[in-house]
Amino acid sequence: MFPFLNENIFKLISSCADELQVDAYIIGGYVRDVFLKRPNKDIDVVTIGKGIELATKLHEKLGKEAHLSVFKNFGTAQIKYNDLEIEFVGARKESYNRDSRKPIVEDGSLNDDQLRRDFTINAMAIGVSKNNYGKLLDPFNGMQDLENKIIRTPLEPQITYSDDPLRMMRAIRFSSQLGFEIEEKSRLAITSQKERIEIVSAERISGELNKIILSAKPSVGFKLLFDTGLLHLIFPEIVKLQGTETINGQSHKDNFYHTLEVLDNLSANTDNLWLRWSAILHDIAKPATKRFEDGHGFTFHGHEDKGARMVPKIFANLKLPLNEKMKYVQKLVLLHLRPIVLAKTEVSDSAVRRLLFEAGDDIDDLMLLCEADITTKNPNKIKKYLQNFEIVRSKLIELEEKDRLRNWQPPLSGEQIMELFGLTPGREVGILKNALRDAILDGLIQNDFEAGKKFLIEKYNELMIVKK
Ligand code: ATP
Repeated sequence: MFPFLNENIFKLISSCADELQVDAYIIGGYVRDVFLKRPNKDIDVVTIGKGIELATKLHEKLGKEAHLSVFKNFGTAQIKYNDLEIEFVGARKESYNRDSRKPIVEDGSLNDDQLRRDFTINAMAIGVSKNNYGKLLDPFNGMQDLENKIIRTPLEPQITYSDDPLRMMRAIRFSSQLGFEIEEKSRLAITSQKERIEIVSAERISGELNKIILSAKPSVGFKLLFDTGLLHLIFPEIVKLQGTETINGQSHKDNFYHTLEVLDNLSANTDNLWLRWSAILHDIAKPATKRFEDGHGFTFHGHEDKGARMVPKIFANLKLPLNEKMKYVQKLVLLHLRPIVLAKTEVSDSAVRRLLFEAGDDIDDLMLLCEADITTKNPNKIKKYLQNFEIVRSKLIELEEKDRLRNWQPPLSGEQIMELFGLTPGREVGILKNALRDAILDGLIQNDFEAGKKFLIEKYNELMIVKK
């Protein structure tokens, strides 16, 4: 018997299929994941006819806890039951025309349905009807490819990728997610068909890209995207980071491979997709800000600021959300040098307060990004930076407890300042507000109302004297 993870539900599907006298199979990703022992909540059931009837019958048996949706136009149905999503589709045959990745569909046999699948490991089916319950139907040796960790297409790869170029992204995504090799013939086909990616929507591309980014070692996927030339088409800004230059014997590191190293380092410590995106984009403006200065070598002054300003266009091109997620990435890109600068020098209270003030609740994520950014191979430097980061971290905790600077609100609002001095809105109020903030961040006064008021009165008098 096959190691079904949800045996009870398959027994039920089986009895429904027998009552309706229909052939039914579990197919695709769920079957692959059973053998890989990966949890998967999406079950695809393929039937030879009567897909909707099978779903309806199963729904009756499952009772109220199950929810059925029928899509008559597509001849498909879906059942949501606990955390499972079960799709029912009739077996189909597909053919493509060149301008679209949407196939022309007609009814077909199980074999036709397996032939339309992208990879051999995704084309395996397991019978759930009485006459074939638990039987593996694996016409393209997907099982062997699972064992050998190979991504291979059932049909000629040139045709597979040209028909639906999203499959190129999927091949690389599975390789990165599962740690599988894409067979050479397939890799060459992706390289030669790469231009076909233009018929795929940006949303679909970034859907796969995000899955690559969420894999345990995302550099695997990015290197494949780069080597096949797909990355140049879908995300040209990151490709510009690749390469080094030497002038007068001085060179700079390859920022593409550095970025991938940072991304892998960070991925060992977080599953936060947007934090991972901030690693991808932290040095994105290095090519645009690169200068050679005699005596200094290469510099990238202001790359954090320019990088943060590049984020919205990159997000828009990739159809990533232009909301607070994007702002979070921008903020981390903008601040990514700050803890490193601190960790290289003497760590002053005032600098740590300012960092805490600007990073707010994202301070812990920023520290994770910065630690991941240490890619030097010099063990002494690594040791020194990590030690200094520890000092930064403990100072952060100490000052946070003392000064409550995370998501800081001034102890006196603009209105209170106006009331105190009988001012109307204008430049003076802004000057006083900034002076108050700086005095608190520099540790000159306590972060409370009384100390703030006293300081403001002194500051106001000082300003009045200057005015006179
Ligand atoms: P995941 O669940 O990790 O997103 P998956 O491939 O298992 O990946 P789906 O994307 O829902 O999940 O696809 C389900 C199945 O449909 C696949 O296993 C494959 O057999 C088939 N499939 C999906 N996309 C394609 C495609 N573009 N071309 C051919 N077959 C596809």
